[in-house]
Amino acid sequence: MRIGMPHMGNLYIPFKALFQRLNMDFVIPPPSNQRTLSLGVRYSPEGMCIPFKLTLGNLIEAAELGADTLLMPAGSGICRLGYYAKTQEQILHDLGYDAEILCLGVSQRKLFGLLEIIKRLSNNAPWSKIIPAFRFGLAKLNALDRIERAVQKVRPVEGIKGTANRLFAQAIKATDQADNYDMLKRVQIDYLEQLNQVTKDEEVQPLVVGIIGEFYVLLEPFSNLDIEKELGKLGVEVRRTLFTSEWTKFSLFLNPLGVNEKDKLHKAALPYLKRDIGGEGWESVGEKVLHAKEYDGLIHLAPFTCMPEIVAQNIMPSTKENIPVLTILCDEQLGKPGMLTRLEAFVDLLEHRRRAKVTT
Ligand code: SF4
Repeated sequence: MRIGMPHMGNLYIPFKALFQRLNMDFVIPPPSNQRTLSLGVRYSPEGMCIPFKLTLGNLIEAAELGADTLLMPAGSGICRLGYYAKTQEQILHDLGYDAEILCLGVSQRKLFGLLEIIKRLSNNAPWSKIIPAFRFGLAKLNALDRIERAVQKVRPVEGIKGTANRLFAQAIKATDQADNYDMLKRVQIDYLEQLNQVTKDEEVQPLVVGIIGEFYVLLEPFSNLDIEKELGKLGVEVRRTLFTSEWTKFSLFLNPLGVNEKDKLHKAALPYLKRDIGGEGWESVGEKVLHAKEYDGLIHLAPFTCMPEIVAQNIMPSTKENIPVLTILCDEQLGKPGMLTRLEAFVDLLEHRRRAKVTT
């Protein structure tokens, strides 16, 4: 059995650590790129969202590398994501790949469901091996997200542009290569320290922009054309509440105990939207209400044809909270020059508003 899975940011690193520790054959498709997107677009039914297209491209590329067991997230939520694995499996079969797609659904059985899948994939490895391997994967996930949070703070104020991105790329590689807890801890401390030491322009008070929207396009940089890096170049500090490590902590461990991290967002959204509409639509509205006073502006990333985010996009202008929101629809038609022009105009607007606030 050779296992493959689609990309979403650096998620392949914890999975690789987990599978390596269980001596399983795991193949990682190339990072999402233009070919991945072209494959996904060519073989997807019309009207599918970019998460479907890009993950399909990844799955095809994994199958080309011999993967016969493919992992795909799924869930019992309102969005059509729950059907994606079946549809993608059928497409792969039509293309001649004899691969099975296993759904990583955590909606129902949470941590236990996931561990059972790992047990099955590892050919019944003992729990005494599975649990430590799983914990080590989680440790890598947490380390990566901690470093990324620091990178978000450094990007807008660094003296030499690109330093934080360079350090982050090195940190990702070093985290991937760390094969025990000591090494992992050293990598984390070392890169956090290096980021701390970066020469910064202390005078600058960067604009703060929250990135909100659909899960996948927030976490897969290829799908949003590296928007966080681009905002960093424009001197903007990005705040994003969604990180895979946080999501994992709540979905697998705390939600089953009755702790719901989204309660605050849902409560904030209630005057405008009273129920879950699938995906992150409810949370997007809540984020606007909750962060209106904290941030200078919000960028709302919404996959083209994504119903939950289209609903959220249409509700946001009618809320009384006064904060500019730029919605960017992500799909294969989104081009970098067009996006950069819109970002520059948005940043100009935010600077103007900030200046106007200071002078009044
Ligand atoms: S939430 Fe939207 S973009 Fe995400 S999988 Fe569902 S329909 Fe697609």
